Amino acid sequence: MMNEKQLKNLVKNNIRQLKPYSAKEIKCSIKLDGNESPYALSSAFVKKALSLPLNRYPDPEAKALRKEISKDAGITPDMIICGNGSDELISCLIATFGGPVLYPVPTFSMYSIISRTLDEECIGIPLNAEFDLDEDKMLQAIKKSRPKLIFLSTPNNPTGNCFSSDVILKIIRASKGIVVVDEAYQPFASDRGFMPMLKDFPNLVILRTLSKIGFAGLRTGYAAASPVIINELNKVRLPYNVNSLSQASAVEGLKQKKEIRLNIKKIVSERERLFNGLCSISGIETFPSEANFILFKTRSADAVYSNLLKRGILIKNLSSSIKGCLRVTVGTEKENTAFLKALGIITKNQSAKNRQEA
Ligand SMILES: *Cc1c(COP(=O)(O)O)cnc(C)c1O
Repeated sequence: MMNEKQLKNLVKNNIRQLKPYSAKEIKCSIKLDGNESPYALSSAFVKKALSLPLNRYPDPEAKALRKEISKDAGITPDMIICGNGSDELISCLIATFGGPVLYPVPTFSMYSIISRTLDEECIGIPLNAEFDLDEDKMLQAIKKSRPKLIFLSTPNNPTGNCFSSDVILKIIRASKGIVVVDEAYQPFASDRGFMPMLKDFPNLVILRTLSKIGFAGLRTGYAAASPVIINELNKVRLPYNVNSLSQASAVEGLKQKKEIRLNIKKIVSERERLFNGLCSISGIETFPSEANFILFKTRSADAVYSNLLKRGILIKNLSSSIKGCLRVTVGTEKENTAFLKALGIITKNQSAKNRQEA
């Protein structure tokens, strides 16, 4: 019989070194850690989806869903591929084009995690002090390493800002590989995003997701690109990657355009209130956001994180990757108010304690 060590030795080197993605479920009454929408849309349509013949495989091409998406995105269905979340499409892109994979840091962790599981080389280029792309360093890295893939999340997770679009355009022009503009948070941003540029740049891929606008549970995202790229990605995608319930639900869910738009508006206006509230708490540095979350810096991130948790409020602690930083997702008005109040008390207590100790 094989022992544990022998089993582990069977595992590929690059996998053995990794740790499973920890998305621990922490029970608490106010959940502001996952960049989900705080508003559940009507799910009456799910009943209809449940009447689907589940003995049959889903539509392998997600035709109805791609048609619905194409109306929103203003592109033809042959420029769209759907995935089990956009995470799956990041994986398809890396499997299709390979590395080196280049991205700024800090950014969305899946670019590096998936590259490493697929044993592709990663190159992380630090953002500048404003969390914007470092134009010179990015262009140098493109010249030197000739990345097959470049991932740019704009607005960027976890910093919240949009990258300068003229630098993004320079990168697209300079790259001999594919440039993926990940627009997971574009619905919350003030600009229009890169969808209109697809026709000008054959090497541009845009990622979008339904996860941040009210449908995280459906696990549905899509990539938009030239039909040539979509055709290649379709070779790598598993045949029935988006299940019937998600396809049917997403088609119906996307039709609730008025509510989706209204909820986005509410989140954006709450984001501004949350931002102002954070700015008014002394000892906290708050970074401007075009997304549905805000990054902020404190003197003692771990203590703030655990004290919030004691009060039933869960946010994201990023201090191990960005010194002193925490990320809070915009919640409902009530949740944001509770968060600001708790944070105000916690930081006040801490500075009193610091004074005593000094
Ligand atoms: C959340 C997120 C995604 C992944 O979303 P899915 O739920 O897999 O569709 C992709 N990119 C960024 C930057 C994200 O923050």
